[in-house]
Amino acid sequence: MKHNGIEFDTYFKNYPDEKGFFGKYGGSFIPEELQKAMEEITEAYYTICKSSKFISELRRIRREFQGRPTPISYLERLSNSLGNVQLYVKREDLNHTGAHKLNHCMGEALLAKYMGKKKVIAETGAGQHGVALATAAAYFGLECDIYMGAVDIKKQAPNVARMKILGANVIEVTEGLATLKEAVDAAFMAYSRDYKDCIYCIGSVVGPHPFPMMVRDFQSVVGIEAREQFTEMTGELPDAVVACVGGGSNAMGMFSGFLNDPVDIYGVEPLGRGTALGDHAASLQYGTEGVMHGFNSIMLKDENGEPAPVYSVASGLDYPSSGPEHAFLHDLGRVKYDVVTDDETIDAFFTLSRLEGIIPAIESSHAVAYAMKLAKEMGKGSILINLSGRGDKDMDYIIEKYGIR
Ligand SMILES: *Cc1c(COP(=O)(O)O)cnc(C)c1O
Repeated sequence: MKHNGIEFDTYFKNYPDEKGFFGKYGGSFIPEELQKAMEEITEAYYTICKSSKFISELRRIRREFQGRPTPISYLERLSNSLGNVQLYVKREDLNHTGAHKLNHCMGEALLAKYMGKKKVIAETGAGQHGVALATAAAYFGLECDIYMGAVDIKKQAPNVARMKILGANVIEVTEGLATLKEAVDAAFMAYSRDYKDCIYCIGSVVGPHPFPMMVRDFQSVVGIEAREQFTEMTGELPDAVVACVGGGSNAMGMFSGFLNDPVDIYGVEPLGRGTALGDHAASLQYGTEGVMHGFNSIMLKDENGEPAPVYSVASGLDYPSSGPEHAFLHDLGRVKYDVVTDDETIDAFFTLSRLEGIIPAIESSHAVAYAMKLAKEMGKGSILINLSGRGDKDMDYIIEKYGIR
């Protein structure tokens, strides 16, 4: 299928290019000594990802340890309440540890093991990436250092406890707004001190090459499974696919299965409290081209051109940029990016819980909220939502801030 001059039959062969670019986005903008470390990871990945031993070990892990394939559920009561559109969710909430992130963490940790590294380090926002990586590290017997903003540590206490129980060191970051962006900076600094013995496991399709590609590839299992399951369930493709976009890993995993199909694809960003800079984290909607954290993409900048402060009710979405591939697909128009507010998100959180018996993560609730609006607009057809994670981690926060609705 061709879209705006790009041939999607051969898309994954051509994007990214060998330097890690999706069009003008992506690449690797990092200090020279780290560049060597990234090249080592890139080379190892290109070799290892083709080895049948690596592939079959990853397949076995997904089946026996993660509990894949995760199912697709038809949302009968929610669909009926909205009209004639049929809504479905891909249940990444049922992936081990409760979100899609384990898909790339097991891949990254397996790569670390093949490369003979002793330690994995990472940042975490909602704590889901930290928990997933701590889980992978425990599984493979690797040391694990997790950098986390002080604000998020308070918001996500259960996940902090989980990481510690799994044997990880949780390192508190107090600089700046003390959320995800500052945690990324701190983890990057620690990595530059220690890159010979460890791998920096980036938690989304962001960062320098090869991470946007590698994390997409590890997450593509979601889209591959979903396409097959959906066509088996319904006899056809969905009319629309919807996923929330923070860094963009769950979305890229799901979208990659449908890019070459006549399916409308929607990425949903957090509009938070509103359109003023600092009140949201809708980087693709309101951002401009720029480099941060080692890659070129579309980002939200302050008046000095630095990454702007961002806000979202979902800790996992409050990041001032998105992966370079999303910026590329955005400019190309192959994926439509849109926003929902905190309020719409919280409504969707309670609606899905009440009508379907599925408590979604606040991040995933953004995708549900958008799909509910889209269903009313479409009037007929089907929508497949990527339910990136479960809401257990958010319960205390929601009850404290919003009460039971
Ligand atoms: C981290 C997280 C996200 C956001 O990350 P992406 O890389 O954009 O997928 C979304 N949903 C859940 C449940 C998460 O934990």
